[in-house]
Amino acid sequence: MTLKAKKSLPLKDIALSLKAIEEVALKCKKCGKCQPECPVFRETGYENLTARSKLSLISSIDKKLGILPSKVGKSLSICLLCGRCKSVCTQGIDTSALFLHARLLLDEFNKKSIFKKMIIFIFMKLPFKSGKKYKSPEIQTFSSFTNPLQPKNKKIIFFSGCLFDKFFPDKTEKAKKILKSAGFDVDVINGKCCGLPHLTSGNKDAFLKSTSSLANKISSLNADIIVSGCPTCTMTLKQLWPKFFDENFDFIKNLTVLDFHQLLAKTQIKTDKISNNKNITWHNPCHFKSIGIKNEPEKLLHELLGYNFIKSSDICCGFGGSFSIDHPLISHSMGKKKLDNMREDKSSILATGCPACIMQLKKSSGFKIEVLHTIDIMYEALIKE
Ligand code: SF4
Ligand code: SF4
Repeated sequence: MTLKAKKSLPLKDIALSLKAIEEVALKCKKCGKCQPECPVFRETGYENLTARSKLSLISSIDKKLGILPSKVGKSLSICLLCGRCKSVCTQGIDTSALFLHARLLLDEFNKKSIFKKMIIFIFMKLPFKSGKKYKSPEIQTFSSFTNPLQPKNKKIIFFSGCLFDKFFPDKTEKAKKILKSAGFDVDVINGKCCGLPHLTSGNKDAFLKSTSSLANKISSLNADIIVSGCPTCTMTLKQLWPKFFDENFDFIKNLTVLDFHQLLAKTQIKTDKISNNKNITWHNPCHFKSIGIKNEPEKLLHELLGYNFIKSSDICCGFGGSFSIDHPLISHSMGKKKLDNMREDKSSILATGCPACIMQLKKSSGFKIEVLHTIDIMYEALIKE
């Protein structure tokens, strides 16, 4: 059976959803813990671009949309959706998902006529309960991945995602070979998008159109685990899909979605002792934090493959998908700083675990340097003859 997703929201649901995100935003205590974490704040020094300012705007969105809808849209757009604010929020607010949700609602709102906007405002003033329209899904943990040390016959989907498909198809092939050699039964899904670019540009209809065929494909393959080499795709499938699909897609909540590093760090890989004195300077992608990756890259590159693992300082590369197109000067400046910071270690290898970060770092060097993904390094060490 092919499932179909529901499309645009009725006016009453837009009003309820706006009320619901207002309620979540009101939980912010303005403690400021998120401020120094925000890469956009670090780069610009503007408090009005931090998560707490965005939440303040959302917490009175009913008033702001009436007089200054463009101010709300602009503030929400200057954001990498990197999730760093979420990872330190003292109130546990899922900020980046909330900002995405707000962008989508803003898009729905802006498409309506003045008359329909008035009706939305009237609905917002009525005492409806809003709780049902915005709820956080339970975040999956390794507990649902029960037998990581014996992968034989575990069926895996490797989801390649747009950046691997368009710019690094060799990495998909390498990942497939690594996973097979680790004992997994691997199917690859390529040529499909996780839908995040549609969400970040506020287009829920395009998101549902592009992702419902991917969801149906995933469902038909009946796999135990979906794994991706792109942490942004992993975050989207794992954390955002359950928020944006309706009850027709309930199976999504039960999917085990893992990043390549999470899966392989938990998998027993047999290898001859490798002695290796080369230095690797590592850039940690922002979305590693939001999907719970900590020392897995070090486990793979240092403990398994023997490289000297040097973690570069915890600053964002400034890519952020459409952020790099919409705000090129801020993005480029962040990329340059990140690259300079990585080069201080004078390592022969610069590496990261995200195709978007690879593109940004290479671009920041004028395409003069090579930046590797863990997949490249593992392939070279374990598979290539
Ligand atoms: S998601 Fe990232 S860029 Fe956006 S407000 Fe939070 S920390 Fe700043
Ligand atoms: S850390 Fe959380 S509660 Fe504190 S200011 Fe930031 S968003 Fe608000």
